[in-house]
Amino acid sequence: MSAHNDSMDVIELLGQLFFPSSCVQCRRMGKYICKDCEKTIRFFEFPLCPACGYAISPVGTHPHCQRSTSLNGLFALAHHDGAIKTLIHKAKYQDRFAMLQEGTTILAQHLPTELKTADVIIPVPLHPKRQRERGFNQSEILAKALGKELDIPTASKVLKRTRYTHAQMNLKREERLKNLDGAFELVNPDILRALAQQRGHQLRILLIDDVTTTRSTLNECAKAIKKHVRCKIYGIVLAHGK
Ligand SMILES: [Zn+2]
Ligand SMILES: [Zn+2]
Repeated sequence: MSAHNDSMDVIELLGQLFFPSSCVQCRRMGKYICKDCEKTIRFFEFPLCPACGYAISPVGTHPHCQRSTSLNGLFALAHHDGAIKTLIHKAKYQDRFAMLQEGTTILAQHLPTELKTADVIIPVPLHPKRQRERGFNQSEILAKALGKELDIPTASKVLKRTRYTHAQMNLKREERLKNLDGAFELVNPDILRALAQQRGHQLRILLIDDVTTTRSTLNECAKAIKKHVRCKIYGIVLAHGK
């Protein structure tokens, strides 16, 4: 962690002492998502197929979808609306560590058991330029929080975003794919190889992001990792949808 991030931690901590948390949805004091608002979250009852986005259980891909994705499975906590959407949005501007920690706690409670024993968690990287502008990477905060929650190591420096891509939001599907093609690179494959050797089996990796719309970013990251390392990769997000 850089000194910049450390000072950020202190500011966040002070913020929590002086401005106690209140629900992002109804403003009740106590938690960022209160018990009542947590009940209104539209959770996904099943894991999703990373290729087509439809339900599948257990975690995996539909047989006919397998060839069109580099991911081995996808778990999204909830639809991208309501309290979860508000939490993700607000975490960009205030008390992000505590907010994302709360989201992660809910995520960990819903995570399919087979994913809780993964070997390593990798956050979807931001381009260094964007990370500098923003000062943080939400996915990295999520990765560390989930790692702590599940006792799984995180590797936040192995994957790099090599191209500064334009916002995906306004692009059509084909344009998004073209925009992302080759945008990620595995820069430290040896870290993953050493871990696989130490574990004595093929790695099972959780690739984490806050939101996915078309799953194309997760897929491109998985493709970049699999170019160098034989492994299984499961996408994990707080929210899926527009
Ligand atoms: Zn509430
Ligand atoms: Zn499918």
